[in-house]
Amino acid sequence: MLQSYFRQLGLFACAVGVIGLSAFASQHVWRENGLRSLQAANEPRLQLIANAIYAEIGRQDHLPVVLSLDSDVQAALAAADDPSRRSLLVDRLNRKLERLSREANTRAMFVISPHGIVIASDDWQTPDTLVGANLADRPYFIQAVAAATGESSFLGIEPSTNRVRYYLAQAIRDTALLGVAVVRIEFDTLEAAWERAGEHVMVTDSDGVVFLSSDPAYRYRGFGGFESPMRLVRSSTDRYLGAPVEDVEGQILQRRGPDLVIKISSPAAGTYLSQTNMLPEYGWTIHRLTELSTVDEDQRDGAIIGGSLSALIIILVLYVVQRHQAFLAASRSGVELQRQVAERTHELSDTNASLQTEIEERRRTEARLRATQNELVQAGKLAALGQMSAAIAHEINQPLAAIRTFMASTKIFAQRGEVAQVARNLDLITDLAERMASITGHLKTFARKSEPGHPEPVAVDRAIERTLVLMAGQIRTAGVRIETDITPGLLVTGQAVQLEQVILNLIGNALDAVAGRDQPWIRIRARAAADTVSIAVADNGHGISAAEIDRIFDPFFTTKPLGKGLGLGLSISYGIVQDFGGQIHANNHPEGGAELTVELPRHRRETAPVEKAIHA
Ligand code: ADP
Repeated sequence: MLQSYFRQLGLFACAVGVIGLSAFASQHVWRENGLRSLQAANEPRLQLIANAIYAEIGRQDHLPVVLSLDSDVQAALAAADDPSRRSLLVDRLNRKLERLSREANTRAMFVISPHGIVIASDDWQTPDTLVGANLADRPYFIQAVAAATGESSFLGIEPSTNRVRYYLAQAIRDTALLGVAVVRIEFDTLEAAWERAGEHVMVTDSDGVVFLSSDPAYRYRGFGGFESPMRLVRSSTDRYLGAPVEDVEGQILQRRGPDLVIKISSPAAGTYLSQTNMLPEYGWTIHRLTELSTVDEDQRDGAIIGGSLSALIIILVLYVVQRHQAFLAASRSGVELQRQVAERTHELSDTNASLQTEIEERRRTEARLRATQNELVQAGKLAALGQMSAAIAHEINQPLAAIRTFMASTKIFAQRGEVAQVARNLDLITDLAERMASITGHLKTFARKSEPGHPEPVAVDRAIERTLVLMAGQIRTAGVRIETDITPGLLVTGQAVQLEQVILNLIGNALDAVAGRDQPWIRIRARAAADTVSIAVADNGHGISAAEIDRIFDPFFTTKPLGKGLGLGLSISYGIVQDFGGQIHANNHPEGGAELTVELPRHRRETAPVEKAIHA
């Protein structure tokens, strides 16, 4: 259990690790791609910026030379010591410079005397004109005067505007120095254009100090720390009016060939791709900073995609593994189930076989029981017959004796020729013979061993009548009065002979019970209820004691003396009645004496029952 828990924990940790790794790898790839495409897209833009600077300078850098060769310039300078001509020449030069400046679209163009005083300028008509200003201390003037070629250039802040200006100067010489022609170049328009385009463009000078910037916050700040090689040591700060130069703060995050990924914290926080383009003619460097928001987004997307993809793959793999395991488990449990089913089937068929054997055994036992019961019934009948034999013999002897007497008298009547008397005697003899035949017929039927068979409709009145015929001798001998109260035509379901046997038993017991009684009687009743027919045999005998009443249906229970009773009659009757689906019970009636009642299922078909031939 614990092992499986740790195993699952391990798997989960692995899955998280794999997802994290793939997210990391994929964000890296996406970032690299993003940066690469950004680098490639920015290259032409950087070149355009360089071209614009070149163009701005290039369209004006020849002007100082042109001015130095100009005759009006030279004439005006040469007439410095001749005040009468000078004012005329200077005036003409002023106008010329103004015209030239307008045509060449320059910002400033002026001529300086060897002493550094501006003698003519294109802005001669404006209130704050340079004319008359002393520029002797300006580096471009000093350099131009000093240089052998007479050329000089200077990048510096114009104090009045606090903007960077680029000065190109050319010394004008004849035999001696006549003066210096100067053109001032401005980049304000370029800066404004970069700002408008929302670009981060900076141009640093040879000391790595920003002098042009689309963002004023960077202006005159040291950016050399983000250049390669770094330029952190400045040759001079003069050009920036001697103010201390603050460095832009930040760090290089990554070097990507000539380009850098930098993180700036001051003057404004941000992470940029920094690309540079050198302008070697001037010692300047163009910096173009691109915000990495798109790359960051790419990187984030890459992380999400990589993580999701690996999570998806892991889920897929887990799903497949789980399916496989489930399949294996299902196969295993299927095999186990089959084994159990086979085992159970085997057990069931064993049980079934033993049940079949048991059923067979039960059937055989039942058949044996039935046969035994049948034998018992038969034995009971024979016993009853045995008991009745004396009475029956007497019953037959009587008509026989009468027949003999009638035969003797008939013989005499025949000898006398009294035919009518003979015929009457013969009729009487026939009646007696028929009576005898009836008794023996009943005996034969009763004594025949009845086979246990299907129940049939039995007429109750006839069964009672036939029993009484059989017992007529006994009854007469005992001097018992027989009372009958029998509803005619009642049918029960059973077997005629067996019902007669039951009635015979009951009447026999009643005869025994009333023996020795004064005015003995036996009352036989047959009544119908809704679904049953009850046959009750009552007598005025000694009755049944309370101690015996529960035992009289037990086999071999008898209160009669040895040789008189076997104790089987009621037990056989009980069995027969049970077989018919009925019941038998005993009680003592109020007049004194016993009453035994048999209740049998009523046969509803009121058609005449199929009676077996009694006289057969
Ligand atoms: P048996 O007649 O051979 O004794 P039975 O089974 O027919 O066997 O009767 C069992 C006993 O039930 C009798 O011995 C007798 O004691 C009692 N008995 C049956 N019928 C009556 C009756 N009508 N009156 C009194 N006792 C009876």
